[in-house]
Amino acid sequence: MRDDIEKILIDEEVIHRRLDTMAARIEKDFPEDTLIAIILLKGALVFAADLLRRVPRKLEVECLNVASYHGGMESSGTVNFLDRHFPEVKDRHVLLLDDILDTGRTLRAVADRLIEEGAIKVHTAVLLSKDKARAEDVEADYVGFAIADEFVVGYGLDYQGKYRNLPYVGVLKQSAI
Ligand code: 5GP
Ligand code: MG
Repeated sequence: MRDDIEKILIDEEVIHRRLDTMAARIEKDFPEDTLIAIILLKGALVFAADLLRRVPRKLEVECLNVASYHGGMESSGTVNFLDRHFPEVKDRHVLLLDDILDTGRTLRAVADRLIEEGAIKVHTAVLLSKDKARAEDVEADYVGFAIADEFVVGYGLDYQGKYRNLPYVGVLKQSAI
């Protein structure tokens, strides 16, 4: 697996140090027992597990399955909700966690849906934010790292379902694509 990586963009230690800072801010921003964290699967799984364990607050955790990339390298432009049940968010503050903010369509669509379902406010956290114009007017409240507009894998992010378990964020070799 590691032979397929052209370069490491953000190594494990740097990610972990950044998560300490993000978690401290989240802890400061939300009182005990007010928050429901919603993890967008599967991409935000690793990020959320590492981030939320650093937040010493009582909170609830839910997951949502949405698809926009369908495993390839281009955003499909539509966001599909894949779950039969939607988490109960009425009158709650939600912390929505995703791996990466790219076109913004995913965060926009999910945040809108959460508001429709009665959430008081949707706060958003992403590990990565691509430095580019968004298709939707959305920015995240908590951002791990801003990166250039290139396709990355690792630390939860996949290419055709693989590389999510790389402990760092990297760029694939041309030969692996
Ligand atoms: P958006 O809806 O903002 O365009 O895209 C968000 C989703 O697209 C992310 O949750 C992620 O699944 C996928 N995505 C966007 N950029 C990348 C990337 O560079 N690498 C990978 N693996 N997925 C990406
Ligand atoms: Mg994703």
